Amino acid sequence: MNYNKKTVKDIDVAGKKVLLRCDFNVPQDKATGAITDDKRIRAALPTIQYLLDQNAAVIACSHLGKPVATFDSYVKKQAEKGKDPASITEEEWKKSLAKLSLAPVAKRLSELLGREVIMAADVVGPDAQAKAAALKPGQVLLLENTRFEKGETKNDPALAKAMADMAEVYVSDAFGAVHRAHASTAGVAAYLPAVSGFLIQKELEIIGGALANPKRPLVAILGGSKVSSKIGVINNLLEIADTIIIGGGMTYTFLKAQGGSVGKSLLEADWLDYCNDMMKKAKEKGVKLLLPEDTICAKEFSADAEPILVDSMNIPDDCMGMDIGPKAIAAYADAVKDAGTVIWNGPMGVFEFPAFAKGTQAVAEALSNSNAITIIGGGDSAAAVQQLGYADKMTHISTGGGASLEFMEGKELPGVACLLDA
Ligand code: ADP
Ligand code: MG
Repeated sequence: MNYNKKTVKDIDVAGKKVLLRCDFNVPQDKATGAITDDKRIRAALPTIQYLLDQNAAVIACSHLGKPVATFDSYVKKQAEKGKDPASITEEEWKKSLAKLSLAPVAKRLSELLGREVIMAADVVGPDAQAKAAALKPGQVLLLENTRFEKGETKNDPALAKAMADMAEVYVSDAFGAVHRAHASTAGVAAYLPAVSGFLIQKELEIIGGALANPKRPLVAILGGSKVSSKIGVINNLLEIADTIIIGGGMTYTFLKAQGGSVGKSLLEADWLDYCNDMMKKAKEKGVKLLLPEDTICAKEFSADAEPILVDSMNIPDDCMGMDIGPKAIAAYADAVKDAGTVIWNGPMGVFEFPAFAKGTQAVAEALSNSNAITIIGGGDSAAAVQQLGYADKMTHISTGGGASLEFMEGKELPGVACLLDA
């Protein structure tokens, strides 16, 4: 995939209507609907502000949550959950949609921008059409939740065209959604000149740069829960990294494959052969693959379980691995010390429990002390780095969990591929 894409600065937007795909998929309080974290709205501000400074008319759009776009599918979904289909009313379905309206986002965005944000009652319906047609340079319109349209997730060309017809230029800044080929993230680019906003530009420059032309040595730190969810990342990074460091729940399938005893640790028996193949492949390619020499384990999976230090190859039968041990920490810190680039995906242990967060914390600390370009991808990894207080010490924390994972897998991202090449 070509990571070199035109940005909003490479195209004339002055006085034009610009359809801007944002990632306004914000977390909300279940009971009150209040936005509990407006980070994603703030992240969109530089691109919106730039467009307004250029005197563009901004038609912003986003999805929010997973609304069920038609009453029929709503009834089906509720029935699957065990509800009596006859008891389900259209009113109930409409209420479920209302909860996922972007109106609270419009309000917050308006506060942050210090100017009015006009809210449309639909995505491409009469209200959106009328408001988009009347929109003047310097004004901001927010369309309703794109997933209220059943064509959105199907990447329906008719929906994509209807969205495109409201504008003259398409700018995508929703990095968190670029791994999805939906009407508003990819389809629409068939009908308009399409460029990236500043958020996507940064993701492409830093992650794309590290994948295509890394400053070496490139060290990949891979952890998290399962081998099976990281196969794509391991495969791809094995091709380009100089060193691969393994931690987290996936460690134990590797250790078992090497003949170790892993007790009650997370184990994916179906992937033992794969792990052996990967170790072999790494050797053939001259890639250093590091497994933790020691492990902190526990007798049960709980925050107040007693941490027990053991040799990684001999985890007792009644114990499960919860974190990497001090020898592993020292070895891993040493491996990143002189790195040119570090790509980190997946926590080293169950960082949600403070007693088992030391490995993840130590790796974050090592990254913050190194001169390497440090890149964090993956939702939980980003959360861990934030929670442990290292967020501003990293070169880049990706704004897209699933998207960054697919990026690191070397997959084509439909929401990026559809943009004009620079
Ligand atoms: P990311 O979202 O960054 O890609 P993952 O979703 O793959 O990361 O994994 C994150 C989860 O892995 C965390 O919730 C963490 O508790 C869990 N985890 C890490 N180490 C272990 C372990 N030893 N046993 C069980 N779960 C683990
Ligand atoms: Mg995760």
